[in-house]
Amino acid sequence: MASNGVLDARERSATLSRLTAERFDVLVIGGGITGAGAALDAASRGLRVALVEARDLASGTSSRSSKLIHGGLRYLEQFDFKLVYEALHERDLLVSKLAPHLVKPVSFLYPLYKKVVERPYVGAGLALYDAMEGTRRPVPHHRHLTARGALRLAPALSPARLAGAMRYYDAQVDDARYTLTVARTAAAHSAVVATRVSAVSLLRGPDGVRVTGARVRDEETGRSIDVSAEAVVVCAGVWTDLVHELAGVRAGYRVRMSKGVHIVVPRSAVQADTGMIVRTDKSVLFFIPWGERWIVGTTDTDFTGDRAEPGVGAEDVDYILAAANRVLVRPLLRSDVIAVYAGLRPLVEAVGEVNGSKGAKGAKPTTKVSREHVVDVPVPGLASIAGGKFTTYRLMARDVVDAAVADFDREVPSSVTDQLPLLGADGLAAVQAGAGRLAEDYRVPYAVVEHLLSRYGTLAGEVLDLIAADPGLAQPLADGHPYLRAEIVYAVTREDALHVEDVLMRRIRLFIESADSGIGVAAEVALIMGRLLGWSRRRRAAETRRYLDLVAAEQTTPAGASAGGASAGGASAVGASAVGASAVGAGAAVPDAVLAGAAAAG
Ligand SMILES: Cc1cc2nc3c(=O)[nH]c(=O)nc-3n(C[C@H](O)[C@H](O)[C@H](O)COP(=O)(O)OP(=O)(O)OC[C@H]3O[C@@H](n4cnc5c(N)ncnc54)[C@H](O)[C@@H]3O)c2cc1C
Repeated sequence: MASNGVLDARERSATLSRLTAERFDVLVIGGGITGAGAALDAASRGLRVALVEARDLASGTSSRSSKLIHGGLRYLEQFDFKLVYEALHERDLLVSKLAPHLVKPVSFLYPLYKKVVERPYVGAGLALYDAMEGTRRPVPHHRHLTARGALRLAPALSPARLAGAMRYYDAQVDDARYTLTVARTAAAHSAVVATRVSAVSLLRGPDGVRVTGARVRDEETGRSIDVSAEAVVVCAGVWTDLVHELAGVRAGYRVRMSKGVHIVVPRSAVQADTGMIVRTDKSVLFFIPWGERWIVGTTDTDFTGDRAEPGVGAEDVDYILAAANRVLVRPLLRSDVIAVYAGLRPLVEAVGEVNGSKGAKGAKPTTKVSREHVVDVPVPGLASIAGGKFTTYRLMARDVVDAAVADFDREVPSSVTDQLPLLGADGLAAVQAGAGRLAEDYRVPYAVVEHLLSRYGTLAGEVLDLIAADPGLAQPLADGHPYLRAEIVYAVTREDALHVEDVLMRRIRLFIESADSGIGVAAEVALIMGRLLGWSRRRRAAETRRYLDLVAAEQTTPAGASAGGASAGGASAVGASAVGASAVGAGAAVPDAVLAGAAAAG
């Protein structure tokens, strides 16, 4: 064990030196959940591992999901029993053993509208869903409800046509935080984790065929580094085809991108004490409780634009609002929308022989393309994986590492990650039981300890130690949000945050939780980060500006139209609400004020 999983942004040059100096058994390309999982899987088998991520950990799809750890009820309808069975077993393992601090049970109401036919059909599906669980059963079984019972739990539902409901349980997670925690756990098993480092070409051995590493570029300086490894594992999500191209290989599958958009609305906009799932013409719509908010989504449409910025269009938001309003008694308005975000599903389509599980074929609608994963070894020394779900990342990681080490000239132990709690999980119950004492010892409110435990598990004490050393860090970062200034320091010194967006979009989630996307505190975050990373006044202003530009790009339609813009018809699109008003629609006024704050501070 090299370290306790500390990813210190201040030590970045030492991390990069290790990339050049060491020879690795496995080099992982991509720091989403699949790549972080593969790094952990390989490192915990005793292999020497490096992971390079072109942007920030989880900056791709792995921070933009519905944040459910679930079997996927709708896949039962597609007879994808294997996927559902595996996913439910994974869900139970994560909730009960591997990450109980991060993966938490959540209940869903499934309203029924067809009196006679629907209940037996959905009931049978849910009975099967429950029966497929593992033996741990960390979440309760489903229950039948009358229409009156459903309305008691969810007064937001329109009583018209409501025939009853089912209530069942799944689990939810902060996807970006989970990915980060997996990467840190890999680092705790000696993996070298380097962000803002892109693979730009693959190295070949003396035979000109076998892949023996990768040339990578440090995106902060432009410097190139050759990283040697016995095998390279590609976990690049929707970028996978591009990595195959730069490697000059033809894999047995292609990635088909499907865009999914979510909107975020205040909790008060939908009165319900449970999550909800409702049928739509094409798929299902989730109302997912998220602290003081709801995440509502998602869409599922083919996508061919810029992978880094899928963008949210007015039509995406309108689709979600219309689908939601079909079941709500008080309709959701555009002005209810606090935030929007888009992600790209890396679905797989087989184009030939694939060395792994089967791939989905043909030009089906994206809703019908299988969520199973595909592993391929297109040339010796190179294994690649795509498809799958966040929920099944551990199995995906196991499969791709198995493929990568299959031709090693020595025995490599099997995967042990089903036995390996993530950082922050071990001893959680005792730390939770002592939460009151922690609050007294550190002289912070009990709610602060609860908040930290739910994000860092047993590592919460590390954040509290920062507060003990500098009580000013106990101050909340933004009014109405639980995040503390100490968490910014922690993000830089333990969680590898290099830029303001790493903090506001992924370490804490103000980008999706705050009506101003976190713009109002961007300068403050730059100030705290800058003290640690030695940023000048000019650099702080540049970092703040960079964040504002990113927010604008993320919340703008791919065609470039303003998300809050009049082009889509008055107050259309993503709201008259804050997204449009502060980040995109109102243009330069807010950014200038924020930048002035950045320059004045400190
Ligand atoms: C809208 C939506 C909702 C979803 N909801 C759920 C859900 O509720 N539950 C669930 O289980 N699953 C869900 N999923 C699926 C799940 O989110 C994805 O399967 C998963 O996040 C994919 O992770 P990944 O690591 O494969 O890809 P990514 O997270 O995209 O990671 C790939 C990484 O590779 C990096 N990269 C690319 N090229 C290079 C290079 N040359 N060098 C270095 N790094 C590179 C990228 O920067 C990126 O960070 C959802 C997906 C979407 C889009």
